Amino acid sequence: MQVKKPRTPYDVCIVGSGAGGGMAAYMLAKSGAKVVVLEAGQMWTPATDGAMLKWPYDSPRRGASTKDKPFGEFDGCIGGWEIDGEPYTRAPGTEFSWWRARMLGGRTNHWGRISLRFGPDDFRGKSIDGLGDDWPISYDDVKPYYDEVDKLIGVFGSHEGLRNAPDGIFMPAPKMRCNEVLVKQAADRLNITCVPSRLSIITKPLNNRPPCHYCGQCNRGCSTASNFSSSNVLFPPAMATGNLTVIPYAMAREVTVDARGLATGVSYIDKQTRTDKHVSARIVVLAASALESARLLLNSRSTRFPNGLANGSGQVGKYITDTTGTDVGGFIPRMVDQVPHNHDGVGGAHIYMPWWLDNKKLDFPRGYHIEVWGGLHMPSYGFMGGIQHYPPGGGYGKSLKEDYRRYYGATVGFSGRGEMIPNDDTYCEIDPTVVDQWGIPVLRFHWKWSDHEYNQSRHMQETFRSLIHEMGGEVRDPMPTRAQGFGLATGGTIIHELGGVRMGSDPATSVLNGRCQAHEVKNLFVADGGPFVSQADKNPTWTILALAMRTSTYIAEQRKQGAL
Ligand SMILES: Cc1cc2nc3c(=O)[nH]c(=O)nc-3n(C[C@H](O)[C@H](O)[C@H](O)COP(=O)(O)OP(=O)(O)OC[C@H]3O[C@@H](n4cnc5c(N)ncnc54)[C@H](O)[C@@H]3O)c2cc1C
Ligand code: SF4
Repeated sequence: MQVKKPRTPYDVCIVGSGAGGGMAAYMLAKSGAKVVVLEAGQMWTPATDGAMLKWPYDSPRRGASTKDKPFGEFDGCIGGWEIDGEPYTRAPGTEFSWWRARMLGGRTNHWGRISLRFGPDDFRGKSIDGLGDDWPISYDDVKPYYDEVDKLIGVFGSHEGLRNAPDGIFMPAPKMRCNEVLVKQAADRLNITCVPSRLSIITKPLNNRPPCHYCGQCNRGCSTASNFSSSNVLFPPAMATGNLTVIPYAMAREVTVDARGLATGVSYIDKQTRTDKHVSARIVVLAASALESARLLLNSRSTRFPNGLANGSGQVGKYITDTTGTDVGGFIPRMVDQVPHNHDGVGGAHIYMPWWLDNKKLDFPRGYHIEVWGGLHMPSYGFMGGIQHYPPGGGYGKSLKEDYRRYYGATVGFSGRGEMIPNDDTYCEIDPTVVDQWGIPVLRFHWKWSDHEYNQSRHMQETFRSLIHEMGGEVRDPMPTRAQGFGLATGGTIIHELGGVRMGSDPATSVLNGRCQAHEVKNLFVADGGPFVSQADKNPTWTILALAMRTSTYIAEQRKQGAL
């Protein structure tokens, strides 16, 4: 993609080009605003830069991970849990990991494309069970934008009429694969709701994008733009407006303000020349990912904002959350020695299980959904590791090869993805002593799970084990104990981190208003996961996109009226 030379002043400066930044850039450039995007990573064009069509034998590494591709060298996203010269720290006793992307499109280049709307209850959890906080907006406020996102980007699914897992404007969902049919039968017998997945992959042509051809390599980025990433769906049309400038390798340092306390632009490091630069803009939109946007605000200190920009409430960095998660895999003897059959499909499961129970009858609040894995996908580096545990797997030579063929596809697994309740002990702040290689102070994390999350994880483990047993399968790993946190994944590792710049009606307890506009700085907005008040059990990105579209629509209207 062509990179244009910066020109100033811009109408809008957006920091970050992932889900939120991509949507804001698309909407605002389309509205006629002159927009600049500062992106800390490199440019990326999935059609030419991606590895969708590569075979494992095309690389001597066979696709094994590299330093900046921890999920495998063919993966679509450059970034990782650790980035050279850009550390973060953890308070004593805290376990937390932070996955950061560094490229145009951010994490949308390899996300799982699970595209779920939040339901009506997800915006008003406190009113239902007294925990956390309600959002200042409701499902009805966001619904029109979910609808527009569905139409613009495309999502498949089925109409189920589930109250708190609202239907969207769906394209037809692909058929279940063989292993998924067996999972669905077991779920039906256990009265667990199991329905077609909702993934932002198109199964019909849309805006000159061809439908998916079922190569199953979505995490590598789609060369035909049949799945969604900001880099392949939002940036090309935004660039075509002529209103958008993208500055890659631009690491934002802080938002600058004038004497009136209004944002004037963003100062950044040009990573290629290692020099300080500044871009002026009338409006600033932060979309650097939830926690990085909190970091930017905390680092934007001035006489007027000594605790960080828009942080008079002291709420920036507070009430951060991640999805809860735990997994169980099982061996299914009836799937051994499968008759070769067509297993084509998208890069992800064709079914999932939305939350189906009533928390009033359980010892934890809020729900989780279940993601399904297994099947006959293209083998990749390290596939079927642990074959020696299959009866009587392992060995050497011919018998080992035969075991690989016999047991290939005979495993299924389940991952729970649930709602964490925000708490006072889970937050991020600026580390008082550590800076990154650009001299920018880094974040220090504090993380604490409560029994809400541990009990939920225990329930996930028990449910997944019953599903596997119901399929006639065997689970090798013992049930994790309370001391092992019932298998609850470390904070941050589900990579759905949210909050830290939350919205609310009261400026004393929130950073943004219901339009994602800073209470204290009217030309400052946040368009990533930072404004979220609660997590919900749904993966967050469809809501990030809908909110970014809603915020951008508001900005465009306000510009038209001369209010911004
Ligand atoms: C493997 C994986 C699977 C996932 N699967 C799903 C899923 O199925 N469904 C779902 O809903 N979500 C999923 N997610 C989460 C999803 O990717 C994120 O919710 C989403 O990308 C967040 O969008 P964002 O715009 O906030 O941030 P990002 O996509 O992370 O984009 C932020 C951008 O800002 C840039 N940036 C950061 N700091 C700065 C700075 N200081 N200056 C300039 N630029 C900066 C980064 O380089 C990056 O490009 C998944 C994530 C991963 C990693
Ligand atoms: S499975 Fe479909 S959407 Fe995914 S990479 Fe292949 S063609 Fe693209």
